[in-house]
Amino acid sequence: MKKECEIVQDLLFSYNDGVLSKSSIELVENHLKNCKLCQNRLKEIKSDISKNSDDKKEVDYLKKVRKKLNKKTILITISTLLLVIIIVLNIMVFVNYNNVASNMQIYLEDGISQEELSQIEQKIKDNYSDVEIIYKSKEEELNEFKEKFSDNPNLLADYNNSNNALPASYIVKANLKNIKNIEKDIEKENFKGVKKVTTYVDENPYLLFLIQIIN
Ligand SMILES: [Zn+2]
Repeated sequence: MKKECEIVQDLLFSYNDGVLSKSSIELVENHLKNCKLCQNRLKEIKSDISKNSDDKKEVDYLKKVRKKLNKKTILITISTLLLVIIIVLNIMVFVNYNNVASNMQIYLEDGISQEELSQIEQKIKDNYSDVEIIYKSKEEELNEFKEKFSDNPNLLADYNNSNNALPASYIVKANLKNIKNIEKDIEKENFKGVKKVTTYVDENPYLLFLIQIIN
């Protein structure tokens, strides 16, 4: 390699980057016109640089794809996990739902006989063990009503036992599963003297379930 070639090849990177002074550019270009070796070296430098930048672009792209994929995977994983938790909670609450304390009020016709009354009570007691049955007479219902509205006695002043429009009733307390079954039984038997049946859930099943977890 000629001495001048050495100098020019030292300058070729800077020449390619366009950072040489005007006099150095002239020197390089004059030499290049007549030197095949240095021309080839410049070609090599150019192709190396463009190859490197292509490689870098590819790596960057791969990194981006991986980042996006990671974010997506994390999101999908979290969503799936949340969904599973919600489903499991709902199943557990649903399973638990039958145990929720409930009550049922069986409203009775005014003319119901003692025999008809005891038929209803017996039917429930025969089929269900863990059930509480309370009889409420018309008088009791009226007194309770009056107590409830004791702030406003005029409202119910005209009502007494002779014109009491409130029905007597049975109040049945049990878990929801039994209450539902008793309701079906009463409908099926079509007891004489039963006016209407209403059921209530006493507890919020989700709240009950949470309390059970905490305990
Ligand atoms: Zn040369």
